[in-house]
Amino acid sequence: MNKLSIRDLNLKGKRVFIRVDFNVPLDGAKVADDTRIRETLPTLRLAIDRGARLVLASHLGRPKGKVDPRYSLAPVAARLRELLGRPVEFASDCIGADAVQKSKALSDGGVLLLENVRYHPQEEANDPGFSQQLAGLSDQLFVCDAFGSAHRAHASVVGITKFVAQAAAGLLMERELAYLGKAVLNPERPFVALLGGAKVSDKIEVVRNLMKLADVMLIGGAMAYTFLKSQGEPVGKSLVEEDKLDLARGLLDEARKRNFRLLLPIDHVLAESPDSTATQVTEIAGTPDGWMGLDVGPKTIELFREELSKARTIVWNGPLGMFEKPAFAQGTLAMARAVAARTKSGATSIVGGGDSVSAVEQSGVADQISHISTGGGASLEFLAGEKLPGVEALSDAPTKH
Ligand code: AMP
Repeated sequence: MNKLSIRDLNLKGKRVFIRVDFNVPLDGAKVADDTRIRETLPTLRLAIDRGARLVLASHLGRPKGKVDPRYSLAPVAARLRELLGRPVEFASDCIGADAVQKSKALSDGGVLLLENVRYHPQEEANDPGFSQQLAGLSDQLFVCDAFGSAHRAHASVVGITKFVAQAAAGLLMERELAYLGKAVLNPERPFVALLGGAKVSDKIEVVRNLMKLADVMLIGGAMAYTFLKSQGEPVGKSLVEEDKLDLARGLLDEARKRNFRLLLPIDHVLAESPDSTATQVTEIAGTPDGWMGLDVGPKTIELFREELSKARTIVWNGPLGMFEKPAFAQGTLAMARAVAARTKSGATSIVGGGDSVSAVEQSGVADQISHISTGGGASLEFLAGEKLPGVEALSDAPTKH
């Protein structure tokens, strides 16, 4: 992961194009949650302190290649002004004469935010001409701090790197790569992977790859039922991806052959429907017909907690149940606390994916996690062993002597 860092760049007096992830939820003309903006502040402050002239670009939502005021970054410019405590210029198109002129008018430490790059279809098409126009707003310097977009080969993430002299990682990007990279390449052991969520299809490759890297894998959430059913266990009305049963069975066979410890839930909290609050707890083998499993049960919590309590590295992605409903949140919240407790005892913990992140926040333990990954999709692809185009495209770090 030896990529050039923003810290290696000579920024004084230079326009630097910084791709950030300001894909924040909006509430009308206001930013509803500014977490993603705050997370890039260290990178922006470093560039400002070094006298760079900052040209910032991001996508927001899916405007499908057309101008759509619902996805304007103007509210983000307003919030960024407040957070930085300095003026932020705004260009209402990310390319064209106005953007060029505003980028040239920047003084050292000045900040310009460009309008949504996805207003142009060329962004997602990774169009070279468009990439070159974006690069032209800089003095041949590019910084990517948008880890959450690094799995997309888009113009402002990948294409632009061909038209600059140096393409470096921002501080947030570096941090993501440092934590995820260490887990994948050189984890302290035991390494326990905890996976949940609804869709097996999203995580099959992650399961396959982490089986090679981790020492133990714990699977909960709805995805566990596809694995359980593939073993002939009764699952009632629980969510199952029928077309993934063979894949799930294959992975479990492989785990058995290799003596890999892959643990599935042994009991669960059931209801007749997700809206019902009348629940019962049974062992998996005793699952009644017509009921669906919506959370892991107390024995599973204990089993998983025991494994987590021995871990030196923990990677967690996906909730263990339908945790949005309090009746089915216990498993997920218990895992959040267990991961936090183990981190306190010296383990490295990496939590990714919007739901697991909100679970650690709900449990009030977010500040006890070693690293909360900002890019759900990107971190899953990374853990699945795939190369992220937005990382690959960055310049290599100079070899150290
Ligand atoms: P994913 O996007 O695949 O990570 O899935 C997250 C969603 O899975 C959350 O909205 C959870 O409510 C849901 N979920 C987790 N466990 C279950 C379950 N046992 N039954 C139904 N939905 C679940």
